[in-house]
Amino acid sequence: MRRIGLLGGMSWESSLEYYRLANEVVRERLGGLHSADCVLRSVDFAAVEELQRTGRWDQAGELLAAEAQTLQRAGAELLVLCTNTMHKVADQIVAAIDIPFLHIADATAAAVREAELSCVGLLATAYTMEQEFYVGRLRDLHGLTVITPTATDRRLVHDIIYEELCLGIISESSRGEYQRIMRDLAGRGAEGVLLGCTEIDLLVGPPDSPVPVFDTTRLHVRQAVELALAS
Ligand code: GLU
Repeated sequence: MRRIGLLGGMSWESSLEYYRLANEVVRERLGGLHSADCVLRSVDFAAVEELQRTGRWDQAGELLAAEAQTLQRAGAELLVLCTNTMHKVADQIVAAIDIPFLHIADATAAAVREAELSCVGLLATAYTMEQEFYVGRLRDLHGLTVITPTATDRRLVHDIIYEELCLGIISESSRGEYQRIMRDLAGRGAEGVLLGCTEIDLLVGPPDSPVPVFDTTRLHVRQAVELALAS
């Protein structure tokens, strides 16, 4: 089994999920007392969030590239960045390491393609929903059509992530809003919905959506474990 490097803390609420799921998938695949061989680097999210909010993405990229090197020095043999949003600086990270980097959008798109769908709704931070680094990759590299919520709903989805989910707050009214927004995306033609932020699965899942959901956290972890176990 290859050692998985988890670059997390963005937020730690979702890094916990990555750690738990990685161990669960290894146990499911190997049985017995097997668990994931991994190293976790968990950063202070307040510092990263400030760099996002003030548009200092290059600086955020430098920070995460340095942390990715830390994981490589700690023996990581593949790298998993435990946030969709910070894939905006994926190129800076990839340039700094010699180990494989598993892009979360690729893991997700592969599952969408396997389900033979081509038009998906996206719930994520405003950065992920509104900028090219993510939607553009899904479109250009994987041929997917991506529908995002209305501007008002994008703001709501974004605020719930930063003001609730990243702080461990799970609210019934926010769940209702996400359910409504997923119904709306399906009504506009989405054949599936991407939970494109690693905390969203803490709030909603398949029963909350009229169409299949694709949870980026689970899909990313599963791909990492499959690669770690491949000989
Ligand atoms: N974990 C989130 C994501 O997947 C949001 C937090 C962040 O900005 O990194 O995008």
